[in-house]
Amino acid sequence: MLRLIDTHAHLHDKAFDSDRDAAIERMRSAGVATAITVGCDLADTLRAVEVAHKYELYASAGIHPHEAKDAPADIWAAFRPFLKNDRIVAIGETGLDYYYDNSPRDVQQRVLRAQIAIARDANLPLIFHHRDAFEDFVSILRAEWRPGMRGVVHCFTGDTPQAKTYIDEFELYLGIGGIVTFKTAQLIRDAVVATGIDRLLLETDSPYLAPVPHRGERNEPAYVAVTAQYVAELLHMTLAAVASRSTDNAKTLFKIT
Ligand SMILES: [Zn+2]
Ligand SMILES: [Zn+2]
Repeated sequence: MLRLIDTHAHLHDKAFDSDRDAAIERMRSAGVATAITVGCDLADTLRAVEVAHKYELYASAGIHPHEAKDAPADIWAAFRPFLKNDRIVAIGETGLDYYYDNSPRDVQQRVLRAQIAIARDANLPLIFHHRDAFEDFVSILRAEWRPGMRGVVHCFTGDTPQAKTYIDEFELYLGIGGIVTFKTAQLIRDAVVATGIDRLLLETDSPYLAPVPHRGERNEPAYVAVTAQYVAELLHMTLAAVASRSTDNAKTLFKIT
């Protein structure tokens, strides 16, 4: 039996309200032992914690760049109740999204910096969401990063030089999801091959971004096994090796057992 981990899902999302029990059963039948259900704002993080408790999953506390415009003035105080919660294993998702620009860029930057500071202080890893903002994202990391900090660039969609920057400068992991299976994703595949299994995590970002052959359907954590099989072929590894190595990476990053 595989023991995969879906390191980035939104299982508390309303997209799962009608069949969450069944989706989690399918996840475990597919060899996916657990998942991190990721918070996108404070109310969403509360739901993530509830679902994580109910189903023995993990959760993260974060304010997504899309929601940064509604962040409280005192972000630190708002996060404090979550930091002691035994289900919370990370801060995020947080980052910069200049593709959608749903929040003003200066606000996205302020809210990202605040969450990096919280993670630094609480000694928690960060789950980063980044799209079309590489220069600003890396310059904020350069200013805020300290030795010993940990994190993942989830839903990695960059190229090989970007992957190299994340890994060489910050020792980040790359979160690989369904996009890697898309026809148009050759640059991502090249970066995955150049990076190798040591720095890869597997994720779905459920309910979004289902891998081929489920593209366009609602994504769910069971499909992390589809992406694992795809990555195994890409790296000329067995599925079992990809599962055990990526799971070891996730356990190291999030300090879970
Ligand atoms: Zn994201
Ligand atoms: Zn997400």
